[in-house]
Amino acid sequence: MSRKLKGIAAAPGVAIAPLVHFHGTLDQIPTWKVAPEGTAAEQKRLQEAIVEVARLLRELQQELASALTSQDARIYDAQVAILHDPTFLADVTREIALHGVNAEVALQRVVARYEVVFESMADPAMRERAADLRDIGRQVVCALMAKARSKYTANGCDYLFCADEFLPSDAGILDRRHIRGIVTAHGGKYSHGAILARSLGIPAVVGVEDVMIKAPSGTNVVIDGDSGMVILDPSAEELAQYQQRLREQRSAESRISEVRFDPSVTTDGTAIRLYANTESVRDLERLEADAIAGIGLFRTEFAFMERKQFPTEQEQVTMYCRAMEGAKGKPVTFRTLDVGGDKPLGYFRTPDERNPVLGWRGIRLCLDWPDILYTQLRAMLRASALGPARILLPMVTTKAEVVRCREVLTHLMQDLRDGKEQHDPNIAFGVMVEVPVLVPTLPDILPLVDFISVGTNDLVQYLLAVDRDNQRVAKMYDPFHPGVLRVLEQIAIYAASARKPASICGEIAGDHLFTPLLIGFGYRELSMAPVFLPRVKLTLRSFSLAECRALAAEARALDSAAAVRHLVTEQVRVRWQRFLESPEANRP
Ligand code: PEP
Ligand code: MG
Repeated sequence: MSRKLKGIAAAPGVAIAPLVHFHGTLDQIPTWKVAPEGTAAEQKRLQEAIVEVARLLRELQQELASALTSQDARIYDAQVAILHDPTFLADVTREIALHGVNAEVALQRVVARYEVVFESMADPAMRERAADLRDIGRQVVCALMAKARSKYTANGCDYLFCADEFLPSDAGILDRRHIRGIVTAHGGKYSHGAILARSLGIPAVVGVEDVMIKAPSGTNVVIDGDSGMVILDPSAEELAQYQQRLREQRSAESRISEVRFDPSVTTDGTAIRLYANTESVRDLERLEADAIAGIGLFRTEFAFMERKQFPTEQEQVTMYCRAMEGAKGKPVTFRTLDVGGDKPLGYFRTPDERNPVLGWRGIRLCLDWPDILYTQLRAMLRASALGPARILLPMVTTKAEVVRCREVLTHLMQDLRDGKEQHDPNIAFGVMVEVPVLVPTLPDILPLVDFISVGTNDLVQYLLAVDRDNQRVAKMYDPFHPGVLRVLEQIAIYAASARKPASICGEIAGDHLFTPLLIGFGYRELSMAPVFLPRVKLTLRSFSLAECRALAAEARALDSAAAVRHLVTEQVRVRWQRFLESPEANRP
């Protein structure tokens, strides 16, 4: 009989295959006493192992470079940084000398101590870093024992990776031709492992309690990375049902990518502009400018995070100009620095905060450090000489913040005019709607801006009071909550009555199940990671505006997120099926 387990849906898609267990811990770690005269040799062994692991991590980063977004590939930079952390190294070295233990044991002890510290931190992003540390510890012990973690060879058979957790270094041992899915006992939707799985397009369910005990290696398993469902030993009926979904998924993947250059219109001709979210200038290299209406969100903080110090105004101008060139004359929306919260900047240390997500971040921080804001706005203005640029402020809470930033902008433009520096005097100026209180105050804010962009990642976590990075409550982070839908509808109503464009730039813009709802509520601009663009375009091309409106009205009146999801899934499924049976029906 089949058994169902529930976990956290971490990467979308269905996978059916036998499980293969991978054990993260090393079974036999050698232990020996190190005499004082042997300490130096032991420390040297440690240093060599660290150099070796850093080399292997760089190799892995290189190997995965074409499969990952540049932001996700930076996960490996973070690991190398831990390896080279002088405090970490000093602690392990001291453990060897002080307790006369070999490097393997010293390393394990120090990693265990650090893990306790990380796991007790208030900041969820920092808690997730305990997993990175475990991963580093494991790799260095392997290197010390000269045990290269060899790639798993699946011998031509499809398999599901099953382990306590999926760590960044595990991406290096996958048999990429046969890995079908990932299922783990621990981990959250936003852990580095989950981010990598999504980036690599491997369906994943994490946080499935005791999965290694309940499902021995070899068990036939279905995982549903959209719902978080895991079925052990599925019945013939369940298998047939999921195999059908898998077939749909596979043929859909190849066909939907064909629609990405088709006109972005609903069946009755309503134009929906699809924009790309980018994190760094490197993302632009892979951008298909012909398939998008422009860049709807350039998260500038990631480009700042890659550096060792603040970029100068000129360096920023160069970076923003490259984005403008990458967009080939289409609009680029530059968001001012959104550091703080879960996005710390190494060279700009902010004080520890009990609730960093409710703390000193985004525009709050920039207004307190006007130099940062002035330099960035000046650079954006100078880049606007090249084409249509838009300026977007993150984490706006009050009208006063908008007024202040408008004043700064006016002042900077005067300065540029005086210095005969080219810029667009009519540059569009907008705010992110991601702090809930901004919604009821939009009638006061909208007259001051040219556009708004809804940051649903933060808005949803603040509306639901669910930390988007906390595994314990992750299941409650559900943007389909009818209350969230009503807020999104209200924002669109306010924007329409003020005749100001409203876009969505949070993750739901790239979730095709949301597409008809957002169009139905009145949104005409969606900005997403480019990988989601084909499926969103396919979906919008299969609905009429009237159908979107009817569906949105029905959904907002339901009483649970599950009911909304069920409703839209059915509607979208029917249309995708129609498209897959006769793709030409959806083409011009
Ligand atoms: C958001 O909050 O939806 C958003 C787009 O910003 P970020 O994810 O960078 O916080
Ligand atoms: Mg945000």
